[in-house]
Amino acid sequence: MTEPTELHEVFADLPEGLQNGIRDLGWATPTPVQSKSLPPMEEGRDMIVQAHTGSGKTGAFGIPIVRALDPLKPVTQALVMLPTRELANQVAGEIAALGKHLGVRCLPIYGGVGYTQQLEGIEAGAHVVVGTPGRILDHLGSGNLNFDNVRTLVLDEADELLSLGFWPDMREIEKYLPKERQSCLFSATIPERVRSLSRVFLNDPVFVSPAEGQLAPQQIEHYFMVTTAQEKEANLARILEDEDPESAIIFCNTKDDVRFVTAYLQRLGLDADQISGDLSQAAREQAMARIKGGNLRYLVATDVAARGIDISDLSHVISYSAPQSPEIYVHRTGRTGRAGKAGIAISLVSGLDIGNFRYLQNVNKIEIKERKLPTEKDTLARLRARLSVKVEQEIRALPERDRGAKIDRFIPMVEDLVANKDGKRELAALCAFYLKEHKPETTVTETRAAATPDSTSDSGSDSGSDSADDERYNTAPERGPKSKGSRPGRSGSRNRKGPRGRKR
Ligand code: AMP
Repeated sequence: MTEPTELHEVFADLPEGLQNGIRDLGWATPTPVQSKSLPPMEEGRDMIVQAHTGSGKTGAFGIPIVRALDPLKPVTQALVMLPTRELANQVAGEIAALGKHLGVRCLPIYGGVGYTQQLEGIEAGAHVVVGTPGRILDHLGSGNLNFDNVRTLVLDEADELLSLGFWPDMREIEKYLPKERQSCLFSATIPERVRSLSRVFLNDPVFVSPAEGQLAPQQIEHYFMVTTAQEKEANLARILEDEDPESAIIFCNTKDDVRFVTAYLQRLGLDADQISGDLSQAAREQAMARIKGGNLRYLVATDVAARGIDISDLSHVISYSAPQSPEIYVHRTGRTGRAGKAGIAISLVSGLDIGNFRYLQNVNKIEIKERKLPTEKDTLARLRARLSVKVEQEIRALPERDRGAKIDRFIPMVEDLVANKDGKRELAALCAFYLKEHKPETTVTETRAAATPDSTSDSGSDSGSDSADDERYNTAPERGPKSKGSRPGRSGSRNRKGPRGRKR
C-alpha cells in the first residue's frame, strides 16, 4: 500500500477529511499567499489580500471556509462573490474538491443560464455559494436563497467586481448578510476604490500582501502600455472600450494630435471633444463645463490648453502622447485621484519613448506598472460581462410575475433577428446602445457607516479619506437615462442595525 503524500505542517494540522481533499488536488506545500493568509483567516480576522489568479488564492480562502463549516447543517454558511461565470465554476470546483471527503456541497450561481439547476442546488442545502452578484441577488429577492447563517464572506477579484458594474448589486446583497461574520477581500490590485469597498464590507481588516510594502494607499493607479506609433489611435479606442471610464482627459503633445484624436474618437461615435490653444477662451470654457457637469465623457487636450483650468475629479487620465518631462506627468495625473479619490492614469508609450518614460518614473518616484494592451478577445469578454450584468439588472427590475411572459414574447423576434444578417446587426446595435447609455453606478457610493445609517463605527477605514469618497461618489454624474440595480419589492431594511460585532 502506498503511503499518503506527506503534507507541509500548515496543511498537516487540518482535519483528516480536508487533508484528503488537499491531497486529491495534488497539493503538498502551501503557496506564499496561503501561508500568509491561512493563520489570520483561521483566527477569524477580516482580511484584504493582494493576490492574483495563479497564486493559489482559491485555496487561501477555500481551506478555511471548508474547515469552518458544519456539513451536517444543510444551510448556506459561506458566500464567495466573484465577477464571472468561468471563475465561479473554477472556484466552486476547487472548494467542492477540498470539501469532498467531508460532504461539503458547493454551488456555483451565475446569470445567463436557466434557474432549474441552481434551484435544485439551493434545495439540496448548499453549504457554500460561489457566484456573481446579479444572479445571487435575484435568488435572494425571490426568497430562494437565505444568508442568515453565512459566517464567511469572500469578495474575490474585487477590482474586477467593481469595474464590471457589480457595485449596486453587492450593496444590496450586503443587506441580507448577518453583521456577525468574517469577511475577506481578494484582489490583484488594491487601489483606493477597492479600499472603499472594504470599508463597506470589512471590519478592521488585516492586510496580506505577497511582498511587503505593496499596500501603501494608492490613490492613483499608474500604468503604461507599449504600442506602435501606427496603431496608437486604434489602441486608444480599444483601451477606452475596455476600461469604460466614467470620464477622462486625453493628453496629446501637439494641437495636430488633439484634432486628429478628437476626430478619430468622434468618428467611432464616442462622446469626445477638444480643447487646444486654437480655440477661443469661451469655447474652451464651454468644453470644460461640459466635462465637469458630466455632459462630456472624453476631453482631448494639450498640456498648454489644460493649464490653469479647473478640472480634477476625472476617473481616468490618459496620455496619448508620452509626457515630455517628469513635471508634465505629475500635472497630468493630478487631474485624477484628487483629495483621496480613486483614479487611473494610463500612458501610451511607443518604442522610442520608453527610455524617457522610465526616466520620468524614476524622477517622480512613482511606480508605473506595465500593462499589456487588451486584445480584441479580452475586450469582447469584458463587454460581454458588462452587458450581462446590465441585462440581469434589467430582468430583476421586472416584477417577478412578469418576467417569464414579458421576456418570452420577445423570443420569436430575437430568433428572427439572429436568423439574418441585418437582424444580427440590429441586435448588435441594441447591445452597443445599451452598453453606452445604461451606465450603472460602478463606484462604491458609501462607506460602511453610510451603508448602515445608525452605525457609528468606522474602524474599517485606514486612509481617513471617507468623506472625500462620499463627496466624489455622491456627486458623480448620472450618464444614462436611468440607473437600475435596486431590487424591487423587499425593502432591504433588515440587518440595518448598528456596527457589526466582531466574530471571535
Ligand atoms: P488560483 O490562484 O486559486 O487560481 O490557483 C492557481 C492554481 O494553483 C490552481 O490550479 C490550483 O489548483 C493550484 N494550487 C493552489 N494551491 C496550491 C498548492 N498549495 N500547491 C500546488 N498547487 C496549488
